[in-house]
Formats: sequence, structure tokens, C-alpha cells
Amino acid sequence: MHEKMNLLKELQELDQEISSIEAAQQGYRDELETFKTEAARVQEMLDELNGELVFLQQDEAQLQQNLLKERDNIVRVEGRLPEIQTQKEYVAVLKEIDMAKKANNELEEQLQAKQQEISVLEQDQLEKEEELENIGGKANERSAELSELMGETDNALQKRRDARDSVAAELPPALLRKYQTLFKRRGGLALVLARNGACLGCNMKLPPQQFNSLLRVTEIQSCPHCNRLLYVEKQS
Ligand SMILES: [Zn+2]
Repeated sequence: MHEKMNLLKELQELDQEISSIEAAQQGYRDELETFKTEAARVQEMLDELNGELVFLQQDEAQLQQNLLKERDNIVRVEGRLPEIQTQKEYVAVLKEIDMAKKANNELEEQLQAKQQEISVLEQDQLEKEEELENIGGKANERSAELSELMGETDNALQKRRDARDSVAAELPPALLRKYQTLFKRRGGLALVLARNGACLGCNMKLPPQQFNSLLRVTEIQSCPHCNRLLYVEKQS
């Protein structure tokens, strides 16, 4: 009876250590995953920026082309000035030149605005590229540390799993099954201390008779409230 209880205590201690190592390892994996998610998020923004820039640069090229045409137009119309015969014709040509210059100015303004827009996006692009590089650098650095930690904890885990298996092999299969089910269902606490007439797993009072029989330790008992296996500390 004592023997079984001691084995169960040892088993639970090992299982709790195993759980906490496994949780730490999951934490390492999650941390690595976070870098990947973060990099993917920034990459997505970068792709979007690149796509937008392609459109803006097409617009810019179109505006440049229109501007060249408009400048040619001014030169062409101005070229007609020396051949002008009448005052009326002269006024008409001047008006035409004036309009062409206005159109030219408008195009220049549009081009400037477009170029401004492009330069803002290019700045964004630069920042995102830098951010991506930073994430990559940090990820490389940290993943070296994490894989080292993973290796160390793998060893610790294996040692405890081996120890756990040999302790488990000494317990009666039915008791082991009961313990394992409780360990899973009761948050890693299958075996608890009973003190002052109460179960310390759920803090409920135990029937007095049961508590007294626990003190005599005749068989392994379960808490009637949470079903955990109970043990008592020997009072001297
Ligand atoms: Zn209980």
C-alpha cells in the first residue's frame, strides 16, 4: 500500500516535469512560428506596395509621354508665327500657344504629384524591406538558440520518460489507468493530499469516516467530489 502510494507520487512528479518540459518546447515552436507569421505579414504588405508601384510607374510614363507631345505641340504652333499674315491669325495662334502652355503646366503638375506619390511608396517599400531583413536576422539568431534549447530539453525529456516508464511498470495496470485518466482530466493532478479532513485537490470536506480510514491507510481511496486519489501525511 505505501509502496504503491510512493510509486504514484513519483510517477506524478515525473509526469508533471514531463508536461512542463513539453509546454516549454511548445513555447519554442510557437516562438519560431511567430517569426514566420510576422515575416509573411510584412512580405504581404511589401508585395502590395510593389504592385501599386507598378501601376503608378505606368501612370508616370504615360504622363511623361503626354508632356513630350504637348511640348512638341508648343514648338509646332510657335513655328507658325513667322508665317503669319494677318492680325486676326496672329491672335488665334497666340491663343493656341497659350492653351498649349496651360495644358503643359497642368501635365507637369500631375507628373509632379505622381512622382511625389511614388516617392512616398518607395520610402514605405524601403522601410518594409528593412523590417523584413530585421525579422529574418532575429529569427536566425533566435532559432539557433531555440534549437539548442530544444536539444537540451529533448535529453531531459527522454530521461524522465524512461524513468516514468519504469515507475509505471511497477504499478498494477488498473491503478495506472485510473491515475492516467485523472492526470489528464484533472489538470495534471491525479494524486492529492488530504489534510484536516478535506481534499486539497478540490478543497471539499471528506466524509469523516473516510478521512479516518485514510489515516489508517488500508487501501487507495478516491475523493468523492473530484475523484482524485488521496493520500495523507503521517503525523508523528
Ligand atoms: Zn477532491
